[in-house]
Amino acid sequence: MDRSEALAFVQPHLTKSRFEHTIRVTDTAIELAKIFDASIEKAELAAVFHDYAKYRDKEEMRRWIEQEYLPKDLLMYHHELWHGPVGALLVKREIGLGDPDILNAIRWHTTGTAHMTILDKVIYLADYIEPGRSFPGVEEVRELASEDLDAACFEAAKNTISFLMSKNQPIYPDTFHAYNHFINVLVKKNWRQQNGKVGK
Ligand code: GDP
Ligand code: FE
Ligand code: FE
Repeated sequence: MDRSEALAFVQPHLTKSRFEHTIRVTDTAIELAKIFDASIEKAELAAVFHDYAKYRDKEEMRRWIEQEYLPKDLLMYHHELWHGPVGALLVKREIGLGDPDILNAIRWHTTGTAHMTILDKVIYLADYIEPGRSFPGVEEVRELASEDLDAACFEAAKNTISFLMSKNQPIYPDTFHAYNHFINVLVKKNWRQQNGKVGK
C-alpha cells in the first residue's frame, strides 16, 4: 500500500487538523527512520495509521477492549489511551494491514513501553515532535531526536509523566515502563562511554 492509498483510508476517520497532524507525523517519522535505520515503508504506514481510531466512539472502543485480546486494565485509565491499542486492532481488521511491526508501533504510540523496537520509538517520537507541536520541552526533544533515539524518548516520557502529574492525572503503567526502560538504557550507555567502551 502506498502513502496516498493509506491516507485515503484514514482521512474519513479524522478531522482536518488531525489529518494534517498525521501528514506531519508521517514526514517526521520518515526523517527519523532514515537517521536511525528503520524501514521507511513501515514508518510511513505506521505513521499514517497511528491515530486511525482517535475519534472512535468511546463505548465502541470499550467494547473492543472487553471483547478482544487487549489489556483490560486500559478501562481503568483515561479513554485517550485507548486509541493506540484499539487502532492497531482496527487497522488489522478493517484495513487488512497485518504487519506486526506496524501494528505494534501504532499500539504503543501514546504511552510507549519498555523494549520498544526502533520503529516503535520512531513513531512514538514523531508523534511527539512533529512540527505542529509546541508544548514546553518539545524543542529539547527535537534536538535530541537527531542524535540519540533513546535519549529523546526518555525526555519525551519524562515530560509526559511530569505533565500528567502536574495535572493530577493517572499514569498508565506502560508510560512508567517506558521511562524506567530508557533511564536504564541511558545509564548503561553513559557507563560504557565513561569506561571507554565503544558502540551502542
Ligand atoms: P495524539 O493522539 O496525537 O493527540 O497524541 P498521543 O496519542 O501521544 O497522546 C494523547 C494524550 O495522551 C496526550 O495528551 C498524552 O499526554 C496523554 N498520555 C500519554 N500517556 C498517558 C498516561 O499514561 N496517562 C494519561 N492519562 N494520559 C497519557
Ligand atoms: Fe495518538
Ligand atoms: Fe498523533
